[in-house]
Amino acid sequence: MTKISSIEGRILYNSRGSKTIEVDVESEGKFLGRVCAPSGASVGKYEAVSFPNGKPEESLRILQENSQKFIGLESSDLKGIHDVLKSLDSSTDYSRIGGALAFAVTIASMESASKAAEQPLFKTLSPEFSFKFPFPLGNILGGGAHAGPGTPDIQEILICATGSKTIEDAIETNLAVHKELRNVLENEDSDFTNGRGDEGGWAPKLENQKALEVSAKACENLGFTLGKEVSLGVDFAASTQWNEEKQKYVYDRAGFENSTGEQIDFAANIIEKYKLIFAEDAVHEEAFEDMAELTAKFPNILVTGDDLTVTNKDILIKAIDSKSCNASILKVNQAGSLYDALEFANIANQNNIKLITSHRSGESTDSQISHIGIATKSKMLKVGVVGGERIAKLNELLRLSEHDLIRGMAEI
Ligand code: PEP
Ligand code: MG
Repeated sequence: MTKISSIEGRILYNSRGSKTIEVDVESEGKFLGRVCAPSGASVGKYEAVSFPNGKPEESLRILQENSQKFIGLESSDLKGIHDVLKSLDSSTDYSRIGGALAFAVTIASMESASKAAEQPLFKTLSPEFSFKFPFPLGNILGGGAHAGPGTPDIQEILICATGSKTIEDAIETNLAVHKELRNVLENEDSDFTNGRGDEGGWAPKLENQKALEVSAKACENLGFTLGKEVSLGVDFAASTQWNEEKQKYVYDRAGFENSTGEQIDFAANIIEKYKLIFAEDAVHEEAFEDMAELTAKFPNILVTGDDLTVTNKDILIKAIDSKSCNASILKVNQAGSLYDALEFANIANQNNIKLITSHRSGESTDSQISHIGIATKSKMLKVGVVGGERIAKLNELLRLSEHDLIRGMAEI
């Protein structure tokens, strides 16, 4: 047992070049946990607010004024640390102190505790003695809120090496598909600049269907059969298209509109045609019944909520009651503190909701989420394929492959 001896913060930048907060928690004057908070671009309506009034400096000031409240707590006492944060912010969305501060303080404390206990973070977060690797799920082609005009309206086309037996092979396969997709795109368009979106997926000037076709072609060129060695996934991020006034999904870039029924058919056709393993936010964030329709129709694929469930346990319970999804994204900073996120994960695991631990589009080069994915029994880890801040998470999985406690890949 080690007590927190100091807690400090600073302002740094995330991968999008936006200001964020980093927190150092030290126990016994020597065990350092250091965490830099990420942030999203396609943000769910009901997720934790990153910073009070959008100002990371405000979160830093609050940490500095209240640092004494953390000193002397056990660094492993996640609930105690969470309770101090809640005593500073009684709102439901961390709008007073910032969810980014809650994220950084709680994960840094647990990292400090894991160093003191001389065990990896995933083991500190879970009482289990045997763990599995989540399948890396990576963005190979991006559009929507993560890339500029001319790119697809659909936010992300993702690759997952569903046939891989090892984490090494799964990562290598994703990388090979990402590389081959560049060749396919260069053949399609000699003016393709190799531009990439916020998460490292290629960002070509292509409409949705063509973007899916080239992604499938890259897999086939490598001799892979979709649904076998590799599978595609899509994050529709449909709240981006949803127009409340028109009550329609408006595809500005492709130039069409979908009624609710048409959107369900649009998503269902893509799921079937490309044998998707994963479909995220295929309808907007408040369309619980429409999501339930897709979940009933596709019991064997991960019909996943992200903006729908926002790592919020009350919203997850609503989604479970209405059978709106069979899988959910887990983004700690959507919840706020790691304590909130682990509560969410427990409820998901108890109710057969498959977890996909995820990065944000604006990331840090930290890799604690790789441990969080393992500890929460996540089936997939959605962390991109390339880019320093994405590779950091994948490289951490490779380091962890040296660990005896993790054996084999998760069962999807
Ligand atoms: C997502 O929508 O799943 C995502 C990772 O993007 P962002 O971080 O912008 O929400
Ligand atoms: Mg999403």
